[in-house]
Amino acid sequence: MSAEMQNYIDEAEKALLHTYNRYQVVFDKGEGVYLYDVDGKKYLDFVAGIAVFALGYHNEEYNDALKGQIDKIIHTSNYYYNVPAIEAAKRIKEVSGMDRVFFTNSGAEAVEGAIKTARKYAWLKDGRTDHEIIAMNHSFHGRTMGALSVTGNPHYREAFEPMIGNIKFADLNDFDSVMAQVTDRTCAILFETVQGEGGIYPASEEFMKKVRALCDERDILMILDEIQCGMGRTGHMFAWQRYGIKPDVMTTAKALGCGVPVGAFLMTEKVGSASLVAGDHGTTYGGNPLACTAVCKVIELFEKQEVPANAAKVGAYLEKRLDEIVAEFSSVQTRRGVGLLQGLVFDKPVGDIIKRAMDKGLVLINAGTNIIRFVPPLVIEEKHVDDMIGILRECIAEAEGEQQ
Ligand SMILES: *Cc1c(COP(=O)(O)O)cnc(C)c1O
Repeated sequence: MSAEMQNYIDEAEKALLHTYNRYQVVFDKGEGVYLYDVDGKKYLDFVAGIAVFALGYHNEEYNDALKGQIDKIIHTSNYYYNVPAIEAAKRIKEVSGMDRVFFTNSGAEAVEGAIKTARKYAWLKDGRTDHEIIAMNHSFHGRTMGALSVTGNPHYREAFEPMIGNIKFADLNDFDSVMAQVTDRTCAILFETVQGEGGIYPASEEFMKKVRALCDERDILMILDEIQCGMGRTGHMFAWQRYGIKPDVMTTAKALGCGVPVGAFLMTEKVGSASLVAGDHGTTYGGNPLACTAVCKVIELFEKQEVPANAAKVGAYLEKRLDEIVAEFSSVQTRRGVGLLQGLVFDKPVGDIIKRAMDKGLVLINAGTNIIRFVPPLVIEEKHVDDMIGILRECIAEAEGEQQ
């Protein structure tokens, strides 16, 4: 590392609140599926800013659209209409099949909005203020108090108790465990279609369909968090679209703006017409013209470049290559995932392997201690998968060698 890069890192550690154990690298720019640090070293990127930069870096058309909007207007207020927000709302309705959208600045805020929607919907029906939400163990929904309250990892919540209350936890893909938590006050069942941070666990089709039927029967809202698994990553625009069901409410963020901070919660007309009204919810920045220009361009380029289809194709290839790794190395136990959202489960912490990969110019990230997560840009090609696998094999072999 150059003295210049070390100096940046030292400065960062003096000024930024230490809420991350950061990797020792300062990234400077990106080109396609590659990142460059301030020393000019090139890295193949299998993280994409954690499932964000789906289009690859330095996409001219995307960048030009943003530059054009910056010169027009960046922000107005949600008290006025703006053209990019109108267009973005129309486009996201088309690709999701949902009817109403509220734009936020982040994933956590989208989850907050979904929780408020569910509580208001239930309150309008019976006037009670003790409604319950069922969320899942090992889930992740964000760091704000409401989103944290439905995050099924006690470690994230412990120091920040009390949570918002009336949240119950069940196990993904265990319908009986959900039934065990249902009461006459249950207003929503909330989960990620594919659990991301919690270890890359896809919801089973059977579970999806049973939850959908239960929610229909009791007028409980089915809320799917598509913040990580959505936007083309599983081969469908939204991961739930491969199950032949539809949620009542869904959240999205991460790749929605491909780097410009924007999220959204969406709902069907049934929910939209019987939940939040003027005065119930708001945001200063959410859905501003710059953010919505990004959303419009992302959806347009996803369609034009057939990004979800590429994720399905290259995702299948990635699966195959990762399965070879499972067969080859004793420290690798299994692979889980859908499309370009994959996890490789090890019998030990993966920090060492990720550091070795960084040294060799490959950016990887974990999900939990023992899992390497693969969430590359969705424009990735098979040759990039081959390059990644080559470096990964070296790193695992080295790590296994040192252990003996
Ligand atoms: C990242 C993530 C969030 C939180 O999004 P932020 O933009 O970091 O607030 C919520 N849910 C899931 C499934 C996520 O992966």
